[in-house]
Amino acid sequence: MTTIIENLVKRFDQTTALKKINVTIEDGEFIAILGPSGCGKTTLLRLLAGFDSPSSGNISIGDQRVSDNKMTLPPEKRNIGMVFQSFALWPHLNVRKHIEFPLLHHAYVPKDTSVNISKRVDEVMEIIELTELANRMPSELSGGQKQRVALGRAIAPKPELLLMDEPLSNLDAELRMEMRKEIQELHRLTNATIVYVTHDQGEALAMADRIVVMNKGEIEQIGTPQEIYSRPNTPFVANFVGKANLIDGMWEADQFTPASNPNLTWPDLGVSVPLKKKGIYPIRPEQLTLMEDDRGGIHGVITSVQYQGKEIHYTVQANGQAWLVHTDLMQKFQLGQQVTIQLKVSVREDNRNV
Ligand code: ADP
Ligand code: MG
Repeated sequence: MTTIIENLVKRFDQTTALKKINVTIEDGEFIAILGPSGCGKTTLLRLLAGFDSPSSGNISIGDQRVSDNKMTLPPEKRNIGMVFQSFALWPHLNVRKHIEFPLLHHAYVPKDTSVNISKRVDEVMEIIELTELANRMPSELSGGQKQRVALGRAIAPKPELLLMDEPLSNLDAELRMEMRKEIQELHRLTNATIVYVTHDQGEALAMADRIVVMNKGEIEQIGTPQEIYSRPNTPFVANFVGKANLIDGMWEADQFTPASNPNLTWPDLGVSVPLKKKGIYPIRPEQLTLMEDDRGGIHGVITSVQYQGKEIHYTVQANGQAWLVHTDLMQKFQLGQQVTIQLKVSVREDNRNV
C-alpha cells in the first residue's frame, strides 16, 4: 500500500501553502513531516485525510485515487486514522466507547458481528494499556492517558494510513519522551504507515524511517534521519536540523576551500557536493575542534564558553563570523583566548559510514 503525492498545490486567498509537493510513502513506513510553523505541514495532512481539496495535483492511497482535479474522496471513505494535537476526545464518552465508536461507524470496518467488535476493543485497550480505566471519562484522565485514547481510537479500525499532527506538543517534556517510545511501539504492533507531522527535529530524528523537511510550502530534502543530519542539502536543512556553521567558499570535485582562507582545503564531510561551484559548506559544531597553536586552520578568539556536562560549547569569532565548536571536557580554553579552529580528522570516515 504505497501512498503517492504528485505535484500537490494548495492555494488559499493570500498564500500558496503547498507548492508542487511530490512524495512517495512506502507501505509500513514511518514518515516525519518536519518544518517550522506555517510551512504547510497541517495543510498537507488535511489533504491526505480528505478534509480539504488540493488546488491541483493528485493523491493516491494504495491503488485508490483519493484526490485529483475532478474529485476529493471524503475522510470517511479513506482508510485512514487521525490523531490531533488537541486529543479531540468526546467529553460524554468513556474510554471504551471512544475505541468502540470508529468500529461501529467507520465505513472501512467490515460488517463483523458485535462479538468481533468487542474483541477488537479489548485488543486495542490492551495495546494502549488502559484496560483498567475503561469506564473513565476524559475529564478523569491525565494528558498522557488522553493521548493514548486518541491513539487507540485512531488505530482501532486498522487504518492503512495513520496521520498524526503534532500529537505530543500538548504534553510536558518527560511525557513527550515516553510517548515517543509508545508511538514507535504502536507502529511496530500495527504495521500501519504513519505520517507524523512535527516541528520538533528531535522527534523526527528519533522516530522516523524517513524525514521530509519542509520550508515555505516546499520540500527542502527527503532522507533518512542520518542523511538529513550528516548530508544536509541546503543551508536551511543544516540549520533547522541541529546547529551548523555555514561557511562560504568554492567547491572543486570533493574538496572545499573557504572564501576567507584560500590556502585551506577541506574534504567532503558528507555534504552533497556540486562540481566546481561557489557554495556553502555546513559544518556541525562537533565536527570542529580547537587548538592553541598555529598549525594552519582558522584563527579566532573565543567569545563565549558554555559548560554542558559532557562537552563544552565555544563560540569563536573568526573571519567575520561566529563559529560554534563543541569539544570534549579535556579541551579547556578561556574567554578571550586566541585559538585555531580545525576540522576533526576522523569526521570524514564517520560520515562515509552513515
Ligand atoms: P504548519 O502546519 O506547518 O504550521 P499550515 O499548513 O497550518 O502550516 O499553514 C501553511 C500556510 O497556509 C500558512 O501561511 C497559513 O497561514 C496558511 N493557511 C492554512 N490554512 C489556511 C486557511 N484555511 N485559510 C487561509 N490560509 C491558510
Ligand atoms: Mg500545523
